Amino acid sequence: MKTYESNWNSDNKIKDDANSWAKYRKEMLSAFPAYQKETPDPLAAAIDKAVKAIDQLRPEAEGPAYLGTNPKLTIDFDHVKHISMPTKMSSAEKVIDETVELFEGLPNWGHPLTMCNVIPQANTASIVAAVLSEIYSPNILEGEYSWNVHRAELESAGMLGNLFGWNPDTTGCLYTYGGSGCWTYHVKYALSRVLHDSRTKGVRTDAKVICSQQAHYTMLNSTDWMGLGTDNIIKVRTDVNTNAMDLQHLEEILKDCHEQNIPVASVVCTMGTTDANAFDPIAQVRELMDKYPNDSTQYGKALLYADAVVCWAWLVFREYDFEKNLLEFSPDVLPLIKANCEALEGVKFADAIGVDFHKAGWSPYASSCFVYQNSDEFENLLKRPGSAYLQPRSPYNPLDYTLEVSRAATGSLAGWATMKFFGYEGFQAILGGILENQNFLRSVIASHTEIVCVNPEDHGLVTLFRAYPDGVIAEEEYRKELTDPAYKEQLVKNNILTKAIGDKLYHWFRNGKKVNGRCTPYLSFSTGFRVAEYNRDASDPEACIFALKAFPMNVHITPDIMRHVIDCVLAARDEVISEQ
Ligand SMILES: *Cc1c(COP(=O)(O)O)cnc(C)c1O
Repeated sequence: MKTYESNWNSDNKIKDDANSWAKYRKEMLSAFPAYQKETPDPLAAAIDKAVKAIDQLRPEAEGPAYLGTNPKLTIDFDHVKHISMPTKMSSAEKVIDETVELFEGLPNWGHPLTMCNVIPQANTASIVAAVLSEIYSPNILEGEYSWNVHRAELESAGMLGNLFGWNPDTTGCLYTYGGSGCWTYHVKYALSRVLHDSRTKGVRTDAKVICSQQAHYTMLNSTDWMGLGTDNIIKVRTDVNTNAMDLQHLEEILKDCHEQNIPVASVVCTMGTTDANAFDPIAQVRELMDKYPNDSTQYGKALLYADAVVCWAWLVFREYDFEKNLLEFSPDVLPLIKANCEALEGVKFADAIGVDFHKAGWSPYASSCFVYQNSDEFENLLKRPGSAYLQPRSPYNPLDYTLEVSRAATGSLAGWATMKFFGYEGFQAILGGILENQNFLRSVIASHTEIVCVNPEDHGLVTLFRAYPDGVIAEEEYRKELTDPAYKEQLVKNNILTKAIGDKLYHWFRNGKKVNGRCTPYLSFSTGFRVAEYNRDASDPEACIFALKAFPMNVHITPDIMRHVIDCVLAARDEVISEQ
């Protein structure tokens, strides 16, 4: 039996005839990064090799919009869990190869034919920044374990505070796990502020979270997980045309709460809904909240949260000179950009704002950022006693008030790198470019009488449209469906057609179908982006509008692709009709 020390040579290398455990360790050494300078660098080589291997999954020119060559879902769901960790050690190389295989068939978000949702391709600076955080594992729970890397989160607060028109010095932010994480943080902030002893005694009072009918469904996650309960959500009606919160209805609700002394935890303004790009009138919402405050002898002040996760970036146009138009946007698009930016101006009235960098921020997951205007208030309100084994080495110690304890720097670095890389003009160019593409797509739609754009008033990231059989004047047909209950049967029939076209296109995307010799786009559809005008209260689940969706998020998109998208939609429609 060797002693522990006898496994080593005099030069501190493990001996060839060492104990088995020590030999394993020797093997492992090659698969851990070196801690000191070493040439060549095995980690750099492994990453280089892995990136090259995964990039081999990209299609040939004009290939399909998924990675690899097999579009099928290859998981055997009945047996997938019949697996144990292997007994013997594998090699890092082999595991990396197996990892690359998992990406076979994944949607290729950077492909110009990919337009299914607000899912952009991440930019290189953000990808590399995120990967670097995985190598050296800074932990932004406090300064000691993240050292200068926590500057990324602090500077994000400054940059975003400036963008929103807040004092950057007093702005705080926390990168977290999604737009849903931001929503959840807001509920916690609101409950802690309004129900004074809720942090110690639990949530024992039915405080209300008020948001519009069009607010994101994560309202359910957040109120449920925070222990408030989904029944404490009050939904405000939205205008049937603009999808924005109806102020009169909000006033009724706030007045009612005020008179009955029911505390309002928060009002949520969705500043850009996912489908309809609807903006709630946040400045007026703030006025109404001031008019009907909570009883201050019992409760704290209600919180105003702006869920701007999709659309926040349009604010970069606050710095744009629309007269000079230095980036030379077309005259059609310029007023639309301006309208988006102006609609967002009011976020400055919010106490906190949610920002997703993985949507219109061209960054990888998870890089959502919960931004709050009064960092002293938020951080003191949620403060807990520190830990016995962590000492403050920097003034910045989010572990004292965050939901998370260990906090990866991945999101902070990705968001920060994107802001540093794009700057105001980069963001302006990429966002304005989407509207230029969108405008072109809409002109192609307008040139076809059998297709109608159903969100002509929205100038967000999506175009919604419906395709009808040849010979139908889509514009007229749609107007009747939207407004006239006598046309409900027609509406339902065309909704079914719309869904069938959407499913057909998905099928074609997955099966490598070609139209005019080219691969087909990856679009999506909504089974109810708005209700018919006579179904304002949404009481009839059938009287709502289905629509096909195109999100041209991608910087690789060209006008030619947009024309091809519409050709494919019409080809799919023809095949669906011929099968009926
Ligand atoms: C996407 C979205 C969310 C949820 O965000 P995740 O990042 O998917 O968790 C919340 N609100 C709105 C308006 C959204 O569009």
